[in-house]
Amino acid sequence: MKTAILGAGLTGITLARLLHEKGDEVTVLEREPRYGGLCRSVTDSGFTFDIGGSHIIFSRDTQVLTFMCDVLGSNSRQNKRNTKIFYKGLFIKYPFENGLNQLPKDDLYFCINEFIKTLIAVEKGELSLPSNFREWINYTFGKGIADLYMIPYNEKIWKYPAEKMSMHWVDGRIPRPPVEDVIRSAIGIETEGYIHQSVFSYPLRGGIEAMVREIAKPVEDKIQTVFNVSSIRKAGGEFIISDGRREISAQRLISTIPLQELLPCLDRVPEKVKKGCRELKYNSIACVLIGIKGSVPDISWMYIPEKELGLFNRISFPSNYSPYVAPQGNSSILIEITYREGDEASKMQDGDIIDHVVDALANMKIIKTGDDVVYSAVMRQKYAYVIYDLEYQKNIAIVKDYCARIGISLVGRFAEFEYLNMDGCIRNAMNFAENL
Ligand SMILES: Cc1cc2nc3c(=O)[nH]c(=O)nc-3n(C[C@H](O)[C@H](O)[C@H](O)COP(=O)(O)OP(=O)(O)OC[C@H]3O[C@@H](n4cnc5c(N)ncnc54)[C@H](O)[C@@H]3O)c2cc1C
Repeated sequence: MKTAILGAGLTGITLARLLHEKGDEVTVLEREPRYGGLCRSVTDSGFTFDIGGSHIIFSRDTQVLTFMCDVLGSNSRQNKRNTKIFYKGLFIKYPFENGLNQLPKDDLYFCINEFIKTLIAVEKGELSLPSNFREWINYTFGKGIADLYMIPYNEKIWKYPAEKMSMHWVDGRIPRPPVEDVIRSAIGIETEGYIHQSVFSYPLRGGIEAMVREIAKPVEDKIQTVFNVSSIRKAGGEFIISDGRREISAQRLISTIPLQELLPCLDRVPEKVKKGCRELKYNSIACVLIGIKGSVPDISWMYIPEKELGLFNRISFPSNYSPYVAPQGNSSILIEITYREGDEASKMQDGDIIDHVVDALANMKIIKTGDDVVYSAVMRQKYAYVIYDLEYQKNIAIVKDYCARIGISLVGRFAEFEYLNMDGCIRNAMNFAENL
């Protein structure tokens, strides 16, 4: 069957490969000059960075994990996670509830006392069930862990009030602490949380894009880059897809591009559907790529809940994942700042963002001085994170229902408008191909 796939990110590429294997005649249409979407990487001055934020390979889904590792073959290295939360100048073990004994004593008391009080209240039925993300955090972790870490960190990454966010998405994404682990960690017995990610893989060479390139190998000649899909119509039972210059026809149409990009390509979309789509919220990201002389702390990545330290929510150290992503004697740091149109970070020039980050890194003693910086760049991605606000479920249902009615299949992070990691995208592509 003649199949058109819109978007050549990880999802589009994986779908193309799987459908090609099933005998479909696939064409993948990609707006950018290079495929890979959020999983693209750049190599410049000897440094390789993932431009859609720091990516690691992990999954609970063994079939998908095997697929990701197998395509990389020997171009992959396993790393043991050493992740921290930077809190009051201390490096606290991640997840926070597994590092409680590293907190200042008053903070440790606050966390454990509130955790136990909350547990008892829940047991006695004295706490009503949570109805939004803020309440879920307090209900699950107690006010101590909530106030010191969970709420400030989440409000920093989402740039959205936790009480206005839904909680339907948290299971499996935010580690829920077993009581025994919280008690153990409070008294200083080593525990590990979020175990399926405690060991992760990363390409030795080429950054995360190396994985997408391997997946794409059998279908590379089916990808048309610089094809900015701008209109889709139906004629004679086929879809006609155009970028304003060229036209492609297909019997089956699968979109992996963001819904906000898909809907304007369609004619006569009902106002209710347009409104539902307009009200879906997402964050953009600015990734600050820093190369330095010398070494970085032996940390995989760290979360930064404190607002005062800077606009960023996460700092990763890619040169700790692979020795080949920085020139010898140098190291790399990738800093992530989420933003939405109109806010402070969205208005900052790249140079100001770099200055902001370099000052902060020196302040936090991650680098000695700004003179250590030998490489810097900023890469922005418009669509980075889906925000699950309280209206999300109503709005997404309207938009998905419409796309289903006109026969367009949606697969992928911003096509399904779900918080899907790479494994989720591959799983959904596999399920789609299997269920045809
Ligand atoms: C900061 C950050 C860190 C992450 N870290 C991890 C991690 O460590 N591990 C993990 O498993 N996952 C991680 N992810 C998630 C991962 O990046 C995504 O799950 C995955 O890349 C989504 O792939 P996709 O193909 O669905 O979407 P995308 O990568 O967004 O691809 C969509 C494609 O559609 C194209 N497109 C858009 N509009 C048009 C148009 N009109 N015409 C043609 N083409 C168009 C785009 O250019 C793009 O190439 C992270 C994501 C972010 C933002």
